[in-house]
Amino acid sequence: MYDWLIVGAGFAGSVLAERIASQRNETVLIIDRRDHIGGNASDMYNEAGVLIHRYGPHIFHTNSEVIFQYLSNFTQWRFYEHKVLADIGGVQVPIPINLDTINTLYGLQLDSEELEAWFKMRAEPVEDVKTSEDVIVSKVGRELYEMFYRGYTRKQWGLDPSELDKSVTARVPTRTNRDDRYFTDAYQFMPREGYTRLFENLLGHPNIEVRLNTGYKDVSNKSNYLRLIYTGQIDEYFDFCFGRLPYRSLKFRHVTLPQEKFQAVGTVNYPMSHDYTRISEYKHMTGQKGPRTSITYEFPTDQGDPYYPIPRPENHDLYKRYDALAKREDGTWFVGRLANYQYYNMDQVVGQALATFRQIMFSVPLTGNRDILANERLLGGACLDRPASTGNHRSLHRLKT
Ligand code: FAD
Ligand code: UDP
Repeated sequence: MYDWLIVGAGFAGSVLAERIASQRNETVLIIDRRDHIGGNASDMYNEAGVLIHRYGPHIFHTNSEVIFQYLSNFTQWRFYEHKVLADIGGVQVPIPINLDTINTLYGLQLDSEELEAWFKMRAEPVEDVKTSEDVIVSKVGRELYEMFYRGYTRKQWGLDPSELDKSVTARVPTRTNRDDRYFTDAYQFMPREGYTRLFENLLGHPNIEVRLNTGYKDVSNKSNYLRLIYTGQIDEYFDFCFGRLPYRSLKFRHVTLPQEKFQAVGTVNYPMSHDYTRISEYKHMTGQKGPRTSITYEFPTDQGDPYYPIPRPENHDLYKRYDALAKREDGTWFVGRLANYQYYNMDQVVGQALATFRQIMFSVPLTGNRDILANERLLGGACLDRPASTGNHRSLHRLKT
């Protein structure tokens, strides 16, 4: 009998496993249908001995000291500030668009103030900024939007920016200074020995058992557990009963080259050419030295693993229907990018997992009387019109009496 079953060994599942095992001294079975831990942040040494990210470049950045300090218990860090260039007709310029981007592309010598006025002159007034097109054209005008955003977004999402929520392209700022960092967060580091080592340390507690190549359906009826944390797709948990939530996927082409370096920075974006969106070179991120280098091309597609929830109002509405069912699942928590259908970064998922753990500490009695708890757990997964339960509060109350 495990106190907890956790589905998914990415950041959401692994952080919660660690907290529950170490702070509550309860037992955890954590499963993943893949053959490795780490979820989409997983990395590995390839045949050339280069540390690569299996699912594309993962750069850790956060403004939260709490999240950074928490993860520092499980890894040392390597300072790294990610830089990205956009290839515009063969000329590679900084993205986010900054002073150097504009001066290089247009052969100008503007200063920051002049650039601000230059952007204002080109910006198109948009009364109600709603879409990923609005957010860019209202800031820098249509020409730069076409060069940097429209093609990239259409490739990445299979949708025009006008069909996507503003939050997507709003992830990338526009600058009038010369700052060429992709992120400006207070903490920007890579795990010194890689993400997989970080996950091994998170999951190393003796109360945690890791089972790979195991899907939720393989254990949901057979295994004995009291509480469930689910970090997979929320629509899959409910057998897609309201229909599928759309996700965008990627095909990764990993290539190793017999040369020390391939490109000037960690990532080069190709907004106007090729079928891939970007090429990333890991040695920039990891600081590894050696005669060979490994790069990854990302080709967006609708087939394959669900990497990106697609932020559009109708998808959000569908998610809310699943979320309403999820709220009625007794003794079950839905956490992470897939379970919440949110375009979260790694630090946001860690933050959410830590917040969920605080809620658990507040509302779930430490496992003492296992029979009561086992009786109370409802096996979930069906689109039944159940009355909302009082969930954990009921368990707490009954245990007290
Ligand atoms: P996941 O990492 O997806 O983990 C969920 C796990 O659950 C998976 O391993 C899956 O196999 C397993 N699972 C699902 N369903 C089941 C089931 N039914 N049974 C068993 N197992 C199941 N974030 C950043 O902060 N910086 C970046 O630079 C960055 N780059 C990214 C690049 C790409 C290409 C992608 C796709 C994402 C990137 N992210 C980045 C986001 C980051 O990957 C996520 O925020 C984070 O990994 C989400 O963690 P998670 O635990 O919620 O989900
Ligand atoms: N984007 C773009 N051109 C770029 C970089 C980003 O159009 O050169 C848009 C695109 O829609 C992308 C979004 O901004 O999906 C967010 O970019 P980010 O680099 O944050 O994407 P992620 O790393 O999450 O794939």
